[in-house]
Amino acid sequence: MHDIESQDPEVFSAIRAEEQRQRNHIELIASENFTSAAVMKAQGSHLTNKYAEGYPGRRWYGGCEHVDVIEQLALDRVKQLFGAEHANVQPHSGSQANAAVYFSVLEPGDKIFTMDLAHGGHLTHGHKANFSGKFYDVTHYGVSPDDERIDYDELEKTAKALKPKLITAGASAYPREIDFERIGRIAREAGAFLFVDMAHIAGLVAAGVHPSPVPHADFVTTTTHKSLRGPRGGVVLCKSEFAKKIDALVFPGVQGGPLMHVIAAKAVCFREALQPDFRAYAEQVVKNARSLAARLATHGYRIVSGGTDNHLLLVDLRPHGLNGSDASLALDEAGITVNKNGIPFDTGSPMKPSGIRIGTPAVTTRGMKEADVEKVADFIHRALQVKKTDAAALGAIREEVFAFNKAFPLPGSAL
Ligand code: PLP
Repeated sequence: MHDIESQDPEVFSAIRAEEQRQRNHIELIASENFTSAAVMKAQGSHLTNKYAEGYPGRRWYGGCEHVDVIEQLALDRVKQLFGAEHANVQPHSGSQANAAVYFSVLEPGDKIFTMDLAHGGHLTHGHKANFSGKFYDVTHYGVSPDDERIDYDELEKTAKALKPKLITAGASAYPREIDFERIGRIAREAGAFLFVDMAHIAGLVAAGVHPSPVPHADFVTTTTHKSLRGPRGGVVLCKSEFAKKIDALVFPGVQGGPLMHVIAAKAVCFREALQPDFRAYAEQVVKNARSLAARLATHGYRIVSGGTDNHLLLVDLRPHGLNGSDASLALDEAGITVNKNGIPFDTGSPMKPSGIRIGTPAVTTRGMKEADVEKVADFIHRALQVKKTDAAALGAIREEVFAFNKAFPLPGSAL
């Protein structure tokens, strides 16, 4: 870091400022986390210099003997972690992992059946602004208006009538356990492949805190940077019969050379997730999400689906006459980072949705427990009660938030 300071003070000062922001603010974005120093150091290593198109033992470039060791470690560890038959650790992101899966078994125009973004799905699950929505004939399933949980009966009925080539399961904003076993059965009966994108819950699955999709799905993808607490990147897991296709679709299908420094950081992350204390971490993530949800409910907010089974909650702000956009701006001022989010059957607009999404992976990494996140809920409520023009009141809360956060050290400090 000192090299950056002397050679490029502008970049250095922005890195420093971001580190300070992360240290001071309460981080509640459900898809973010704080990696260990080991993960960061692997990413900042000499591996960033290496081209390694191909796979271990089958590269297009010379000098790959050491990166081969690293990629093999990552592969062995991730297969052990999730009990997968085959893995590919090269996707640069979750979206690229998903692209490889779609391209491996679908032709343009094929029918896919996926969770609606408005009900918690992801852009890569057939949204019209994404390649998945442009290339394929998309039908969405969603949650029931009664309990805001996936309507499995409706899903089954539509799948049988639609006969899609592939069903996508997994979500970005769904607070309940997903019944992968049932969706797997539905997919088999409908003659469809099942693809599960477990990006959000991968850390919980690794720790055994959420049922695994791996036994039920033909393909499983994940990002490595969310609840799994690794570097930014993606992974594909699949049954052995699809191994060759998936490898060919990741490279050369959708990518060129792998990011070997990131793959090293993934290997470090998988080793960390295999340790017993990772299970305790994942259990605490869920306890904290439940505790935060319960406390916010006592302050008069409506928690979508009435609570949470995982690492996130969706908060309906309408009982307080607020929208997600104004709320997230006010919370930012108060030193609390969340994102605005649509809720199922939202009456707001995409730019001013009715909710915010709150996740506990990052604050749990910093060591917060149930009583601490109750205080976080109280800070949130206080900030949301402040009129948005009252910068002084929000600033006063921010000072308290910063002081509170000092008790929870930021891991992985590289400076
Ligand atoms: N899949 C799900 C369920 C996600 O929530 C996300 C990211 O938010 C992705 C895929 C995409 O991951 P990336 O941003 O790495 O492309």
